[in-house]
Amino acid sequence: MLYEGKTKKVEVKDGYAYLYFKDDITAGDGEKHDVMSGKGAMCAEITARTMKALKDRGIDNQFIEFISPNVIKAIPLEMYPLEVVVRLKKAGSFIRRYGGTEGEEFEVPLVEFFIKDDARHDPMVCKKHLPLLGIASIEEAEEMERQASDIALALRDIFAEMGYELWDMKFEFGKTADGKILLGDEISPDTLRLRKSGEIFDKDVYRKDIGDPMAKYREVLEACRRHINL
Ligand code: UDP
Repeated sequence: MLYEGKTKKVEVKDGYAYLYFKDDITAGDGEKHDVMSGKGAMCAEITARTMKALKDRGIDNQFIEFISPNVIKAIPLEMYPLEVVVRLKKAGSFIRRYGGTEGEEFEVPLVEFFIKDDARHDPMVCKKHLPLLGIASIEEAEEMERQASDIALALRDIFAEMGYELWDMKFEFGKTADGKILLGDEISPDTLRLRKSGEIFDKDVYRKDIGDPMAKYREVLEACRRHINL
């Protein structure tokens, strides 16, 4: 069985899922698109190391093994068609929607749900929409909300130890064959906003065309290699 998305291919084989990270980078619902050599390998390894760091802290997720250079062996999940965004500091679409200043901190993590639907520009939804749309029950949505908030705080600490500020992030969750909700997909500068003394180390470099994103991703990868053992 094979699924292909904008930046990853997923194959389910012999009871495992294999996530192949591609060199494609996209923004604006896929309107901006480029191929950057080595990008898939960097995002795969950053995902592997951060998911391993979460597991070391008792936070379960899909990750089993990193297969160099760009593949992750993982627990197969039936994915929810959702992007679960957690905001620790204001940025991006939060500011476009509600105003405020970049970098202003929230007292507690803010969790938002978006439906994965490029044609509709990933519409934001309330928890109560999810059962009506047949996407998830309220209980499942609340479980994702709880896990997303805990994972965000753990990742904030993991990145703080490497000298980075974690501003916001996007998670994707799925269900195992025995009904457990687990974090899956990717954790990388493609899906996180990471800053250090005002410098940008995430996909905003690409979105805003303000430098070489790969140089920044490489620095994040090197920091992960120094701080997290696989
Ligand atoms: N994000 C993502 N994929 C998406 C949309 C957002 O990984 O399709 C991440 C994004 O990189 C950021 C966080 O989710 O770390 C919040 O993104 P936001 O809603 O602010 O949207 P953006 O400014 O990226 O359009």
